[in-house]
Amino acid sequence: MEYRILPHGGEKIGVLGLGTSVLAEAGEAAAAQTFAAAFENGINYVDLAGGHTALFPGLGRALKSAVAGGRDELYFQMHFGANYLAGSEYAFSLDLDTVKRSVAWQLEQTGIEYIDFGFIHCLDSIADWNEYREGGILEYLQDMKRQGIVHHLGFSTHTPEVANAVLDEGIIDMLMFSINPAYDYQQGDFGYGEVAQRQALYRRCEAEGVGISVMKAFGAGQLLDAKLSPFKAALTRNQCIQYALDKPAVTTIVAGAKTPEEVHDLLAYFDSAPEERDYSVLSTFAPAEAEGVCVYCNHCAPCPSGLNIGLINKYYDLVRAGDPMAQEHYRELGAHASDCTSCEHCDNRCPFHVEQSARMQEIADYFGE
Ligand code: SF4
Ligand code: SF4
Repeated sequence: MEYRILPHGGEKIGVLGLGTSVLAEAGEAAAAQTFAAAFENGINYVDLAGGHTALFPGLGRALKSAVAGGRDELYFQMHFGANYLAGSEYAFSLDLDTVKRSVAWQLEQTGIEYIDFGFIHCLDSIADWNEYREGGILEYLQDMKRQGIVHHLGFSTHTPEVANAVLDEGIIDMLMFSINPAYDYQQGDFGYGEVAQRQALYRRCEAEGVGISVMKAFGAGQLLDAKLSPFKAALTRNQCIQYALDKPAVTTIVAGAKTPEEVHDLLAYFDSAPEERDYSVLSTFAPAEAEGVCVYCNHCAPCPSGLNIGLINKYYDLVRAGDPMAQEHYRELGAHASDCTSCEHCDNRCPFHVEQSARMQEIADYFGE
């Protein structure tokens, strides 16, 4: 496992987390086994907006057995607005009393005494966000935080406009957002927002120290199947994981699994070769507005002058988005834009047609070197 640090709080979070939409499909005992396999292999971040109620007693059972690291090193996203009271399936609710009873039930079933990340649950319209506040759920969540039962506030959405509205409040430390190449290129069910607006959202989160936990990294599996993919070609899990991890602010990807074997399939990412993670094939699907824009993929490496081209571009974009740390990170690099000799190797290698040698000149000018 590789870990990233959450800027607000300093938690060390595995870059591969666990999503639970299908995890408890086969019931409580199977869910407990899947959780145990995840925890034993270094996964320490779990999203609890699952599709099946059995995930909660299943988690409770896994936590009672000895798990790697113990509760202190495990982090859970619990959603205020996901209702598990009605039966075996998930339902959405904006009713305060229902939310209170559902959260109490989830705490009782799991045996969890505190909530690492209390989430404003899945709002995709400003009207729903207003209703969430006016109906008292946000106040309830914030009160839980004041009492120390909730440690961080989070927000899940598929919509950049609503994400920005909630970020404007300055109350969240984690955004759960759907990131994959299809949505970023405005393809598929949740490809909301303009290409540039989505990228600006990721940079804003990084600049403000808000982590992103990624949902739908595989587009609900559609991107892995040529017949279902909006690109009419299949990507691999490793390509999708690398794509999301290269985006600014991304802390973890909560990927779905329903068996220990599927957990191991996800973890195979860490044993994959760089060429198995290379997603430069995306350049053949990119819309016109994504052409010529650096996606930080480093497909153009190696630079003969030793520049980390992807990172230099990322820090440059982040500094201009207002990230106070990015300038320092840039300065700490071993080679800078001013070391570029304009050899044009990267220009010829870049599948996204970025005129990188010219951009390096621009970056060097910006940093005053
Ligand atoms: S210049 Fe092209 S190949 Fe290099 S990091 Fe940027 S997008 Fe990737
Ligand atoms: S043009 Fe500059 S950044 Fe690109 S490969 Fe050559 S030296 Fe490296």
